[in-house]
Amino acid sequence: MTLIAALRPEFVDHVPPEMEPGVLYVSIPYSTCGHLCCCGCGEEVFTSLSPARWTLIYDGENVSLDPSVGNWGLPCQSHYWVRDGRVRWSRRYTDREIADNRQRDRARLDRHLRGDRPEEPEWREQPERSSGKTRPGLVTRFRRLGVRRQ
Ligand SMILES: [Zn+2]
Repeated sequence: MTLIAALRPEFVDHVPPEMEPGVLYVSIPYSTCGHLCCCGCGEEVFTSLSPARWTLIYDGENVSLDPSVGNWGLPCQSHYWVRDGRVRWSRRYTDREIADNRQRDRARLDRHLRGDRPEEPEWREQPERSSGKTRPGLVTRFRRLGVRRQ
């Protein structure tokens, strides 16, 4: 297997079924990128572009992807950054780190789907005042009465 050291962008409507190694196919209509795994295993890697997934940076010549590409689902489990068209290798993560990463990705995606801002701190996600929710109608009525009396 030959390591792929660089990815050059190719802007396409559809990512072709047969991808060439060393090319990062960028489909703006489908907000997705495809490339063959840079470890050389030949597996296809798709990175969808969205605020909660990957951000593509194109400087007119080279591309960067943020965050890193972690192919935890592939047998090779390769992990690398694409920076200015170069492939920067990251060390192999432990199973624990992979699990943590996946959880963080999922949480980030969930927040995005709910329309929350990504910088929302984690504690805001805890449900608040769960005990007061049993009879909200009654509480509201009392409060209204109080207001009317004054
Ligand atoms: Zn691979």
